[in-house]
Amino acid sequence: MIRGISDTRLVGREGKTENTVVDVGGVLVGGPDIVVMAGPCSVESEEQLLATAIAVKRAGAKILRGGAFKPRTSPYSFRGLREEGLKLLAEARRATGLPVVTEAMDTRHLDAVCAHADMIQIGSRSMQNYALLEEVGKLRVPVLLKRGFSATIEEFLLAAEYIASGGNGRIVLCERGIRTFETSTRNTLDLSALPLLKRWTHLPVIVDPSHGTGLWWLVPHMARAAVAVGADGLLIEVHVNPQAALSDGEQSLRPETFERMMNDIGPMAHAMGRGW
Ligand code: PEP
Ligand code: MN
Repeated sequence: MIRGISDTRLVGREGKTENTVVDVGGVLVGGPDIVVMAGPCSVESEEQLLATAIAVKRAGAKILRGGAFKPRTSPYSFRGLREEGLKLLAEARRATGLPVVTEAMDTRHLDAVCAHADMIQIGSRSMQNYALLEEVGKLRVPVLLKRGFSATIEEFLLAAEYIASGGNGRIVLCERGIRTFETSTRNTLDLSALPLLKRWTHLPVIVDPSHGTGLWWLVPHMARAAVAVGADGLLIEVHVNPQAALSDGEQSLRPETFERMMNDIGPMAHAMGRGW
């Protein structure tokens, strides 16, 4: 029973002992294997995306991430290559065979995103965009729903319920850190949300330690910790040249660091009884 939570009749754990497994272009999220989604924060160019995609695949990532529509705090920051970015993602998918996840910030982006990607990301800032949740609920495309940075776990689950109540149950939840008084890190990664969510919902839950910390060197530590508390997967920002990144360079791993992180997580995944 979720303390005080009113109505999570579809995404709630009650009456459903089996975990939901979401098929993302043939990759199963929420099954025995821990799934890593990795790639640049923003798609910047063909060379940048392809080089990163090849590197993350070699290191063991199963899904390619990359932002084409970027929600930026300042309107003067790089806001993404938009449709051109989606085309590059589809090209990287053809080249590597990796399914693709990318963000839709608006209902107007959905047709284009669905035409080029295997999974729609709903970003932290959009978790309470109920019009967007409703439209995504009408689709039958997998959704990566990120926790709002000021959202309680109850609000997070009810946002997922919006999508599910429209008929789309293909939802993967993502803990990506919340805003607290702490300023040493970009956000405070709420790892207690993992066992809580696992208790309260049958949906798969992954962790994004990149946005959760904002610091590249903290990412491998928190990725290991995420696996230890039961994450079904990880979302990791990787860039071939973080210093030159047009967004989130300070939290992006170089391919070599990503590869080392992937090698280090194996024993933790196995200790948790998960495939890797
Ligand atoms: C992202 O994944 O690049 C992103 C913008 O994440 P969030 O919505 O969690 O801030
Ligand atoms: Mn980012």
